Amino acid sequence: MPSQDQTVYPVTETSKRSTRVNAERYSEMYRLSVEEPDAFWRQEAARLDWMTPFTQVEDTSWDKDDLHIRWFADGTLNASANCIDRHLPERANDTAIIWEGDDPAASSKITYGELHDHVCRLANGLKSLGVKKGDRVTIYMPMIPEAAYAMLACARIGAVHSVVFGGFSPEALAGRINDCASDIVITADEGMRGGRATPLKANVDRAMQHAPGVRQVIVVKRTGGKMKWDPARDVWYHDLIARQPATCPPEPMNAEDPLFILYTSGSTGQPKGVLHTTGGYLVWAAMTHEYVFDYKPGEIYWCTADVGWVTGHTYILYGPLANGATTLMFEGIPTWPGPDRFWQVVDKHQVNIFYTAPTAIRALMREGDGPVQGTSRASLRLLGSVGEPINPEAWTWYHRVVGDGRCPIVDTWWQTETGGVMISPLPGATDLKPGSATKPVFGIMPALVSNEGEPLPDTGAAEGNLIIQRSWPGQARTIYGDHQRFIDTYFATYPGAYFTGDGARRDEDGYWWITGRVDDVLNVSGHRLGTAEIESALVAHTDVAEAAVVGYPHDIKGQGIYCYVTLNAGIIPTEESAQMLRQWVRQEIGPIATPDLVQFAPGLPKTRSGKIMRRILRKIAENEFGNLGDTSTLADPSVVEDLIENRKNR
Ligand code: ATP
Ligand code: MG
Repeated sequence: MPSQDQTVYPVTETSKRSTRVNAERYSEMYRLSVEEPDAFWRQEAARLDWMTPFTQVEDTSWDKDDLHIRWFADGTLNASANCIDRHLPERANDTAIIWEGDDPAASSKITYGELHDHVCRLANGLKSLGVKKGDRVTIYMPMIPEAAYAMLACARIGAVHSVVFGGFSPEALAGRINDCASDIVITADEGMRGGRATPLKANVDRAMQHAPGVRQVIVVKRTGGKMKWDPARDVWYHDLIARQPATCPPEPMNAEDPLFILYTSGSTGQPKGVLHTTGGYLVWAAMTHEYVFDYKPGEIYWCTADVGWVTGHTYILYGPLANGATTLMFEGIPTWPGPDRFWQVVDKHQVNIFYTAPTAIRALMREGDGPVQGTSRASLRLLGSVGEPINPEAWTWYHRVVGDGRCPIVDTWWQTETGGVMISPLPGATDLKPGSATKPVFGIMPALVSNEGEPLPDTGAAEGNLIIQRSWPGQARTIYGDHQRFIDTYFATYPGAYFTGDGARRDEDGYWWITGRVDDVLNVSGHRLGTAEIESALVAHTDVAEAAVVGYPHDIKGQGIYCYVTLNAGIIPTEESAQMLRQWVRQEIGPIATPDLVQFAPGLPKTRSGKIMRRILRKIAENEFGNLGDTSTLADPSVVEDLIENRKNR
């Protein structure tokens, strides 16, 4: 049964030979990290350059009446200096960033030496506008190197960046600017994606009508497209940096000074301004980047995320640059000019490590094997996945077709709030099971609790709500401006533990399987069923491209199973095919999982980071589409009308 694939993929001989962390070393390091955390973190933190060394490692309490999280708290450092200066002068001529433009003919390389100059000029430019340590700067940019310069320039002078994904609407942008009272916005005239221009500056202009506190907008000339200009407020990026010196001393920051605010993608409602601080976050970013990707100097590393998401912060920018890596930044989309674009880029830049999201994998899988097989991909050594549970079907395709059966896959479970990867295989240490995020990273102690808050056994197979039992350096410190919401969301549900909001299963081998958000776990006639499992069964059918499953009130079962299904290109939906899919799921998982209703949909509602918004699908299934809540983070609001029109539960 494909959705219940029990195949184990052992650590490859190549990974075993080349790794620094094999299975024994993983066990030993993990044991040290939880039994002697002080010693472990002292050593890991030494990977950074500290201006003032810290003396104390950890000072945390998750008691909701005295909640504080501090790591390395009396040390000082600067994130930009750690990402740039400490690789100089030795690596001044090594490539820091490979930029691949939307247009396949456009690409460039930025060395560590050049990165230093760009960042310092902009840092001085920001200072000339009066930006000071602690000020919030909003960055609303396409995927161009200036986005990286902007983040690092803020870090250099101690300003707190808030990157807002360039696909967000003016209203969503204004809300995020106001929430953190940011008075500077850095943007571009337009962004290019899939051959189309997005009017970023015009969006900023519209946002300004609702964000009166902004005093200056810095504009990068990306396309030269037309736009309005307010000379009192707008300033060209190239003019701002033109006469600025190419050196700027990095501001000494306390380890607990804020580094950035990032609003979560909004799958579950009102966005939260998650705040990360400097020292712990950077230790965590650098450490996980090195171990999870088994990164070695000289390798070309590509994370396809946008810098507007936490994955872009930690694994395009801070982690790789802190490790002196070459990080690839891609402006475009996976399917333009053709569905082979990712693999063309892999060949063009000889990428060794490739990290993407299940939504992209499923979209490319839908196009068949042809576009992949027309490329070499011989440089690839490791593949990664993040963002949603990856269906075993998509995992297997990624492994077999993209990786030619040769590259391990690291399925990395983590959240904006965790700063970096929490549960993931290490390629040289962990045997893989498709669909499982496998084992905790160093220092991470996951556990399961029941809905009633009862702890479930520490060993053996169990399923419940996923909590983390002890702090780690990369943990978010608060929700900006709303510390009480931080406490209520993460620490009130299960006293003394961090509540992830996700459900999980641990198997007999101690492997972790994320079953989806807790809200997405169904209770059908008293049985707990993860929506992820039913979705995987559906996607395992050759006709199905994508599926989303939600519950709806059912007189007899408590909850019924409502499935939204997108079929592969060219397959016509019929009543018979709905019936056939119900049978298929019944056979794959068991009678208890038989779908009650199957609705075919040309598209599913997704966040702009590509995650399915089950919150909206649940409302439609419950016939309560009058109140869909915040839909401003939807990528394509029009799909919702079609879903309501054709709903099954009238
Ligand atoms: P919001 O918190 O606003 O609803 P979000 O949770 O989608 O938004 P992120 O922090 O980007 O915002 O996503 C984290 C969530 O993504 C996790 O809690 C989990 O549900 C899901 N996720 C991420 N990686 C994986 C993975 N490898 N396997 C399973 N689920 C994953
Ligand atoms: Mg979340």
